[in-house]
Amino acid sequence: MKLNGISLNIQPEPTAVAEELDPHEVGDQHLMTSIETPMRDGAFDLSDEEKKREIEKHFRSIMHVLGLDLTDDSLKGTPARVAKMYVDEIFSGLNPENEPKVALFENKYQYNEMLVEKNITLYSNCEHHFVPIIGKAHIAYISNGKVIGLSKLNRIAQYYAKRPQVQERLTVQIGKHLQEILGTESVAVIIDAEHLCVSSRGIQDVNSSTVTAFYGGEFEKNSTKKELFNYLK
Ligand SMILES: [Zn+2]
Repeated sequence: MKLNGISLNIQPEPTAVAEELDPHEVGDQHLMTSIETPMRDGAFDLSDEEKKREIEKHFRSIMHVLGLDLTDDSLKGTPARVAKMYVDEIFSGLNPENEPKVALFENKYQYNEMLVEKNITLYSNCEHHFVPIIGKAHIAYISNGKVIGLSKLNRIAQYYAKRPQVQERLTVQIGKHLQEILGTESVAVIIDAEHLCVSSRGIQDVNSSTVTAFYGGEFEKNSTKKELFNYLK
């Protein structure tokens, strides 16, 4: 599948691709190896505070190797700031403890039409380059008797965005999570995002954006998709 010159490869068989390709090539083609974020065993053996100390140490080494003067007032706090930002903010979605708590409500209004939450701002980071992915998500679902607070849709999208990501995986993770908690297959997620690894480096295409979509249940029908697209216009 090609959109705006960016390859969108959803690989159903995880390991096959990674083994055949040079790692540099995998990154530049933005291949995804699995729907689950690849985590190692013991990912949470260290506490957040221990992680921050380790990251600070290693980030200081990176800056040192680059030749930066870490005694400079402007730079000396950077390793600690980066470590805190990684663990507490931009990669906080790696820790399942940070999964948003969601209360569901009975669908008392008997609203059985589609509900669309448009233009959710998303900030994520490309797992191949660790530079930002900035975009908008549109989420829709058709209630199966349960409804969710609107802000929770944003929170769930943001939870998955706060991981090193591949846009296709981010889209599917949000969709599957919502299917599970809402108890319905009828969920759609569309993400339109700019990848700074494409716009600011590599091929430096500032005008391209990548669109990915997840459609379940009723949204697999063309008529339902059409209705959704009308709301998104
Ligand atoms: Zn990238």
